[in-house]
Amino acid sequence: MKFSQFFIPTLREAPGNAAVISHKLMLRSGMIRQLANGLFAYLPLGLRSFRKLERIIREEMDAAGALEVKPTVVVPAELWKESGRWDTMGEALLRVKNRLNADFVISPTAEEAITALVRDDLSSYKQLPLNLYQINTKYRDEIRPRYGVIRGREFVMKDAYSFHTDDESLSQTYEDMGRAYRRIFRRCGLPVIPVRADSGAMGGSGSEEFMAESAIGDNTLILCKTCEYAANVEKAACKPDFTPTSIAAAKKAAEGLPAISRIDTPDIKSIAELCDFLKTGSKNFIKTLIYQASNPGGELLKSSIKGNIPDTLPVAVLIRGDLEVNEIKLASLLGASGVSLASDGEVVKITGAPVGFAGPAGLSGVLIIADETVCAMTNAITGALAKDAHYQNVAFGRDFEPNIIADIRTVAAGDRCPLCGGELYEKKGNELGHIFKLACKYTKAMKVTYLDVDGKAQTPLMGCYGIGLDRTLAAVIEEHHDNAGIVWPVSLAPFEALIVPVKYEGIVKDAADKLYAELRNLGIDTLLDDRDERAGVKFNDGDLIGIPFRAVIGDKNLKSGPPLIELKRRGDNEARLVELEKAAAIIAEEIRAELSSAYSAGGET
Ligand code: ATP
Ligand code: MG
Repeated sequence: MKFSQFFIPTLREAPGNAAVISHKLMLRSGMIRQLANGLFAYLPLGLRSFRKLERIIREEMDAAGALEVKPTVVVPAELWKESGRWDTMGEALLRVKNRLNADFVISPTAEEAITALVRDDLSSYKQLPLNLYQINTKYRDEIRPRYGVIRGREFVMKDAYSFHTDDESLSQTYEDMGRAYRRIFRRCGLPVIPVRADSGAMGGSGSEEFMAESAIGDNTLILCKTCEYAANVEKAACKPDFTPTSIAAAKKAAEGLPAISRIDTPDIKSIAELCDFLKTGSKNFIKTLIYQASNPGGELLKSSIKGNIPDTLPVAVLIRGDLEVNEIKLASLLGASGVSLASDGEVVKITGAPVGFAGPAGLSGVLIIADETVCAMTNAITGALAKDAHYQNVAFGRDFEPNIIADIRTVAAGDRCPLCGGELYEKKGNELGHIFKLACKYTKAMKVTYLDVDGKAQTPLMGCYGIGLDRTLAAVIEEHHDNAGIVWPVSLAPFEALIVPVKYEGIVKDAADKLYAELRNLGIDTLLDDRDERAGVKFNDGDLIGIPFRAVIGDKNLKSGPPLIELKRRGDNEARLVELEKAAAIIAEEIRAELSSAYSAGGET
């Protein structure tokens, strides 16, 4: 491609609303333009890198046995009503009506569309396992699109959906997808941290996110200094700093302990005020928080509640005063689509006391959930369910009995690893991909069946696997840039080689044209900067765009003995002189070497 015939509108400065480096560089290099908040168009240069990423992902998906399909982006609302997500997805779901007033969604993800596709043609166990994928447009009406294409409203996702007769087969595909993801990110030159993630109401351990470490990351990762443990804070567990006791054992142990007693605490509501007043630390308090759980369900709840489970369930949550409740763990425990703190009015109704005086002793008519940490507390301070009053010497098992005891705390740096007891620390990260065991969530709701060996109708198990292409491309730029611009790995560079004739005329033009033809013959994506610009301008543009190999052709070097050119790797400080005759072969060989080492690094196949 000749520069003069291409379209690379580079900018000296990024527009003011671009806050992060990848956003700035994508705009400045002429890869993308913003159409509206969260909506980005790719210009020819950006699309070249985008297509290369698509190709890498497609190759790895195909190699892992997934089959590409092309469902529609506009999907009838009926399918989303069948899955229940028409009601639960909230405002991120873009709903549209056609001229007949029928409802549709613009796909934010495609569990429904693909499940419906499979449902129509699935009859026998012999067709399973089946793994279908697409690389297609998604729309999410994000409240706050930001960081350019890292969080856009329209973006492209590779999403795969697999269907299985049994757990073993699901686990096999889940592992295969995880391996394919590692290869994809490695080929992009992108170190990623796979972390355990929340698997929502489905429970189990079947969810992993692939995170790119980033100071601007939306996710907090919890990692162990000693072992391999890595989890999203939404899911992270830790080793309790106590030995949990059973209610029976606690009752027995409490026999000799001082009895619960009431203390006056006039006008004191917060734990901090109470700590001051009682001259003690927050570790000695039990916080009692009233939550409302939306659409709760699941086995645990069924065994804890008699009768019907309401759509909105109030629960009292107990946790040690120095810790925070992890609302995602809580929602997951209750099989709920979400939990939120109850309003002041609701707190008064449930506890019979003003806000700030809730406590478990004497609390009735509401499900009580205790974090494990509370089970080790024998002389705790809690609200006394009355204005200006607290209890002291409250003992678990003696003065209150929770309905459910579970790990619902937010893990923080300094906590102990649940696997090895090592120290945990935090990092920020951006989620690039996600693999997930869905089990029967969609296949059951959407009534998908197949006939097993005995001719009996069965519901298939399902997995889903997503990678955001735009976000991944931005993450590569976050990882690979310098002051002058992008430093693309060869695998994603819009052009692999740039030829800069110092002046595109005479013998310099002849040499540039010759090298251009040779590189193209070798299959190298080459950009020839044939513009009538100063060399410095051409160098700056080449550095900004991030082309990995730059061949500079000037009069002087051509005339010295065997004709020479200057070859420089983007990111290297120094150029080297190579013979014009050999330049194409050298560049081709170095490109091949980089691509194959990225492909095989780590030894995993
Ligand atoms: P997030 O927590 O960042 O909102 P998510 O968990 O909702 O993401 P998934 O539903 O797991 O995302 O989607 C799979 C992938 O799609 C993500 O890992 C990410 O790479 C990409 N993705 C999701 N939302 C966006 C977005 N608004 N803009 C760009 N890419 C996105
Ligand atoms: Mg996700």
